[in-house]
Formats: sequence, C-alpha cells, structure tokens
Amino acid sequence: MMRFKRRVAMVTGAGSGIGRATALRLAREGAYLVLVDQAEAGLMETTSALPEGTEYLRKVMDVSDEAAVEALVKDTIKRWGQIDVLCNNAGVAGSHPPITDQNRDEWERILGVNLIGPMLFIKHVAPHMQSRRLGSIVNTASVAGIRSGAGGNAYSASKAGVINLTQTAACDLGGDNVRVNAVCPGLIETGMTQPIFDYARANEKAHKLGARCELRRYGNPEEIAAAILFLASDDASYITGQALPVDGGNTASLNLPGMK
Ligand code: NAD
Ligand code: ADP
Repeated sequence: MMRFKRRVAMVTGAGSGIGRATALRLAREGAYLVLVDQAEAGLMETTSALPEGTEYLRKVMDVSDEAAVEALVKDTIKRWGQIDVLCNNAGVAGSHPPITDQNRDEWERILGVNLIGPMLFIKHVAPHMQSRRLGSIVNTASVAGIRSGAGGNAYSASKAGVINLTQTAACDLGGDNVRVNAVCPGLIETGMTQPIFDYARANEKAHKLGARCELRRYGNPEEIAAAILFLASDDASYITGQALPVDGGNTASLNLPGMK
C-alpha cells in the first residue's frame, strides 16, 4: 500500500516505541516525514532506520514549547508547502502515587506534555489543513483515558483530556474537511512500559502481562501504528471525532472475577 505517497506527515515522539513504528510505516507508504522527539539519540535511531531515500525533517524539541511548535510548522511549510497528517504521539507516563500523595508539579509536567502538547500542535498545524480543506490528525490517547486504576491519576486524566480534545477539535475543524481521531492503546511494549516488562521478566511473570485482555497477550508498536495509519488515511474518510481502542479487547471486558 502507498496511501501516503507525496503526503507530508508530522509525528511527535518519533524517537521510540509507537511513534517510531508509525514513522517507519508512513515512510514505507511513501510519506515525507517531519519527526519530532525530545530525545535526540532515539530520533537519530529512527531516521537511520528509514528506507533509503526517505525525505524527512528531524527536530529535537519539547512538544509543550509553543515557540518551538510554531517554528517547526513554519519550517515544514517552507520545505513542502503543506501538512497532510499530524500524529500527536509523544507522551510521558510519570509516577503513579495514590491520590493522597499527588504532586502538583508532576501533574503540570504530565498534562503539559500529554495534553497541552497535542493542543499546541493542532492549533498551529490545523490552519494549514483548513486552507486546503484537507488533513487528518491522529492523537495517541490510551485505554487509561477511558478507565483508570489505582495510581493512574495524572496520566489517566491527561489521556481522558486527549479524547475530549479529539472531539472538540473534530467539531471545530470538520466543516473544513479536517478529521481528528484518537487511538487508545492497551499495554504495548515500548520505552514507556519497559520497567513493567523488565520487572515481569525478572520475576517470571512475563506470561501474565496482557492476561487481562481478551486476546490474552500484550500488543506491539506496529499494531498501534497500523490503526494510526488507517485513521490518518483516506480509508477513514468518513470517520472523525472518534477514539478507537486498540487493546486486544481490554476495554470490552468488565474483568470481574469468575467471569472468565
Ligand atoms: P516511548 O516512551 O517509547 O515513546 C515516547 C516518546 O515520546 C519518547 O521517544 C520520548 O522521548 C518522547 N517524548 C516524551 N516527552 C516528550 C516531549 N515533551 N517532547 C517531545 N518528545 C517527547 O512510549 P510509547 O509507548 O511509544 O508512547 C507513545 C504514546 O503512546 C504516548 O502518548 C503514550 O502515552 C501512549 N500509550 C502507550 C501505551 C503503552 O503501553 N506503551 C499505552 C497507551 C498509550
Ligand atoms: P516516564 O515516561 O515514566 O515519565 P521519563 O520521565 O523518563 O519516564 O520520560 C520518558 C521520556 O520523556 C524520556 O525520553 C524523557 O526525556 C522525556 N521527558 C520527560 N519529561 C519531559 C518533559 N517535561 N518534557 C519533555 N520530555 C520529557
């Protein structure tokens, strides 16, 4: 498939995990890439894995820095004159203390990266899509934005915010044929979840990871990238404002004891 031939696609958090898998697949399907990450080494690794001849811009920046977002959009328009696809994917999990031990600075950090970052990118990219009456935005939310769990506070709240931002932006931009959707990954092995996987493997509990979802396994970044590309592509031309769980059936289940 070459669904993104000569299309310009911007991906944040492209230096690791889901963002890297998304960038690599977009490249294989013909896109020109704008790759963003705050971690330079990861971003370099992604660009060195791109298929020979892929055209790309690479930017080391913090997604919550509005001046940097504005400058990046300007550079992209100067280079290609358009932005067809925006994948707001950069995110941080943070720590997970109980509600009584929450720290205000940590909340502001997590909300800054996970929620305000996507808002800033949509704010500055969308006008270039509206003027061409063409564009698709895909935000990486989480199943944690649909349901929470013990200690999930700032991360879960930020991802619930991303789902709501997806709806708001879809309403604001739908009249200009700009679509906005989200994916809600379940448990995926990436940099963010490596400590969980390392712990489980060290304690011979790896087989239990993913056991609470209906497919009885955790997912991989390519399985999320596939859903992101679908929503970004013309195959999803009548889908907007939606948040698609890609979670092996996790959110389909009440997970009550004794029901399996
Ligand atoms: P990851 O840690 O492997 O990748 C996230 C990338 O985002 C990293 O390269 C990191 O450097 C970058 N990043 C973080 N803060 C940034 C900032 N301020 N500016 C620029 N770049 C920044 O993790 P991942 O699992 O691939 O995460 C991608 C997205 O998927 C995140 O939004 C995450 O919340 C979401 N998600 C992941 C899982 C999972 O199980 N891994 C589940 C649900 C949702
Ligand atoms: P966690 O995902 O558990 O929060 P880290 O704090 O190590 O783990 O963050 C994961 C990635 O996000 C790292 O690459 C880190 O450099 C980056 N990061 C952390 N905090 C910020 C921040 N305030 N702004 C931008 N990037 C950040």
